[in-house]
This record gives sequence, C-alpha cells and structure tokens, in this order.
Amino acid sequence: MMRKRVLITGAAGFLGSHLCERFVKDDYHVIAMDNLITGRLSNIEHLMPKENFEFYHQDVSNFIHVPGKLDYILHFASPASPIDYLKIPIQTLKVGSLGIHNCLGLARVKNARVLIASTSEVYGDPEVHPQTEDYWGNVNPIGPRGVYDEAKRFQEAITMAYHTYHGLETRIARIFNTYGPRMRLNDGRVLPAFIGQALRGEDLTVFGDGSQTRSFCYVDDLVEGLVRLLHSDYTQPVNVGNPDEITISDFAEEIIKLTGTTQKVIYQDLPVNDPKQRQPDITRAKEILDWSPKVSREEGLKITYAYFKGLSKDELFKKEH
Ligand code: NAD
Ligand code: UDP
Repeated sequence: MMRKRVLITGAAGFLGSHLCERFVKDDYHVIAMDNLITGRLSNIEHLMPKENFEFYHQDVSNFIHVPGKLDYILHFASPASPIDYLKIPIQTLKVGSLGIHNCLGLARVKNARVLIASTSEVYGDPEVHPQTEDYWGNVNPIGPRGVYDEAKRFQEAITMAYHTYHGLETRIARIFNTYGPRMRLNDGRVLPAFIGQALRGEDLTVFGDGSQTRSFCYVDDLVEGLVRLLHSDYTQPVNVGNPDEITISDFAEEIIKLTGTTQKVIYQDLPVNDPKQRQPDITRAKEILDWSPKVSREEGLKITYAYFKGLSKDELFKKEH
C-alpha cells in the first residue's frame, strides 16, 4: 500500500522534530519543511537517512510547492518563545498569516487535511480559569506579545474560513506550554532558562513575584494528543496540554531540587503582558479524543534534565543573541 504523505512545517524545531519522529515511526512519508530561523538541522539529522523522510529548506511564508500527493499538512512553523518572536516580530506575523495561507492553498490543491498549531496564547491574559475552548480571550493586539497572539488568532480564523467556505478538512490544536528534549537552552522559555542556569551555576531568574502560573505538558503526551486530533473528525479548536498547574516560584524550587544546584532564586522584572495564570480545561480532549496526559512533571523533568546534562560545555555557555 502507498504510504500516507504528510508535510510538517517547522519540522526542525522542538515540536516539529518530535512530530517528524512519530510520523516516520508510524510509516508515513514525511516531508519536513523549515527555514531554520529558530530551528536546527541537528534536531532531525537522525531522520535524514530514512527513506520515508525528506527535508525542504524553505520559508513557508513564500510560495510553497510540494510535488506528488499530500494527505496531511501540519503547520508548526512559527517562532514560539517570547524572546524569539520579540526579536523577529514581522516574520512571526507573516508565518502566522501568509504561511498558513500558503498551507491552506496547497491543501486545497492536494485535497489534504490541515492541522494547525494554535496556542493557549489566543486566550491572552485570561479572565476565565481554567481556559475552556469557548473562551474568546483577552489579548492586547499592540502589546509586545500581540505579534504572536494575533498571528495565531488570525491563523485560526483563516483556517476556519477555509473549512467553512471551501469545505477543507481542518483541525485546530490549542497547545499549552510543552517541554522536553530538543528545546533550545537559550530560547528564553522558563524551563530551559532555569535548567541552563542551574547547569552553569547561575542563580535562577524568576520574573515578577513568581506567583504567575503555567501548566507544563511533556512532549510525548502532546504528540499523542495531536495525532488523535488529526485522525478525529472534530473541526472546532481543542486544548491540548497538561492541567497540572504550578506557580513559577514553585517551579524554580522543583528545578533546584531536581538539579541539586546550590544557587538561589533571584527576582527580575515581569515582562509586559505576561499572563497571570494558565491552565487548560481538557474536558473536550478527554471526551472527543479519549486523551489525557500520562507523564507526570517529575518524570518528564527527569528525562528533560538528562537531555540538557548531555549537552557539550560549548552549547551550555553559548550566548545565542
Ligand atoms: P521552535 O522555535 O522550536 O520551532 C519552530 C520551527 O519553525 C523552527 O524550526 C523554525 O525554524 C521554523 N520556522 C519559523 N518560521 C518559519 C518559516 N517562515 N518558514 C519555515 N519554517 C519556519 O518552536 P516550537 O516550540 O517547536 O513550536 C512549534 C509550533 O508550536 C509553533 O507554531 C508554536 O507557536 C506552537 N506552540 C508551541 C508551544 C510550546 O510550548 N512549545 C505551545 C503552543 C504552541
Ligand atoms: N519566566 C521566568 N524566568 C525566566 C523565564 C520565564 O520567571 O527566566 C516566566 C515568564 O515570565 C512566564 C513563565 O515563566 O511567567 C513562562 O514563560 P515562558 O516564556 O516559558 O512561556 P509563556 O510566558 O509563553 O507561557
């Protein structure tokens, strides 16, 4: 039987690389696309020799062409960490608008199903807690995070429009904070920041008073949820994340314990528009996908710490920006 063919954009990034791995393992033909703006080829180099994997070095915000049939398109290309999208705000807006437009156009031509990586950031600094999919959000369009949040909101809107007006098969995953191996140590996200600081013997930088909350999902759980959503027939947005909520200061303490560092926590200014609390309501994912996360934070953090500990000294001390 001919293999199903899947295009994954943002394939050399953290989540994209784990998705590539999963679909290669499940015997799909994977077409991995990335312009390497925040991703790294090293994330997918172990897949390069596989006969059911190919890599296209391409910017998704420009016209994209893929020969042959396509069954699925997973649009994951986008800077995702606050320091990345603050550094490249226009590219972030473009990949969330022109990039998805190109994917949707390609999907129409190929008659492919599209799954988009949306985000909990569509809820902004939420006034509803935990966040359900029918909450419309609280986003400052012109604040520093607006370039990411609004790009993702537009992405949902255009995806739904292609579904409604062109009958395209679409799926919308609202992904909450996810962690695991292959995150970039210096991408500014809280988990690599804290683990990197512990490994370098630096104090852990908690922003604000540390009372803001996040809920962290281990990457394998997330990938399973996404695969189930792709194969479901559900076209409304679905939260995919782990509801186990923790304050950032408690999280810092967990990292201190995990790493055994003798460093302490220091407090720095809270970034503008930093959401105060965030926790997915995953009732919908449970009901429709029969999915809930299986990996505890303790377990997931151990695996992730082992990955970061294995990095070379050069990588550990490399200043990215
Ligand atoms: P990442 O930065 O590791 O990966 C993003 C990838 O997209 C990178 O490899 C980058 O080079 C590529 N890319 C960016 N712009 C591109 C373009 N114009 N053309 C081609 N490739 C491009 O980030 P990630 O954490 O893996 O996030 C992947 C996706 O998941 C993003 O869309 C992000 O918004 C979404 N998401 C992630 C999380 C999370 O916790 N990791 C949470 C919610 C949503
Ligand atoms: N944060 C922190 N110290 C850091 C990096 C981040 O206290 O060194 C905080 C940040 O202000 C936010 C939370 O950790 O409240 C999660 O930040 P991250 O950038 O990982 O994700 P997001 O804010 O997009 O959920």
